[in-house]
Amino acid sequence: MDTSDGDERPGTRSAVPSGPGRRVEGCDLCEASHLTRWYVEDEVCWVADCEACDVPMVVWRNHGTDPPEADLGHMLTVLATVADERFGSDTWTLDQVMRQVPDHFHAHARDRAWWSRRMGARR
Ligand SMILES: [Zn+2]
Ligand SMILES: [Zn+2]
Repeated sequence: MDTSDGDERPGTRSAVPSGPGRRVEGCDLCEASHLTRWYVEDEVCWVADCEACDVPMVVWRNHGTDPPEADLGHMLTVLATVADERFGSDTWTLDQVMRQVPDHFHAHARDRAWWSRRMGARR
């Protein structure tokens, strides 16, 4: 009884994406889903509005917490450009605390209104 239908390919498909950046399955930042407003993307990082905070955030394309100085400098520059454009220069602060995803480098640009929103001060 030969029922082979020849529809099966050899199991050589690799599930690991080959690319410059290290990616981790299930990491929101690695997924980089375009759910919010997207400002900039390049080979080092991307900048989009943070879903939770509604402020621009820069995300490294590598899953890790320790970007080389060149990458770090680049990311902060890109974020500053976006934040200056959106909020105006000197009206926002850099927040590098990684609360939501502690093992993947990202940084927020928070305007002053964000801090008061967070305190629950509604005026
Ligand atoms: Zn990640
Ligand atoms: Zn956020």
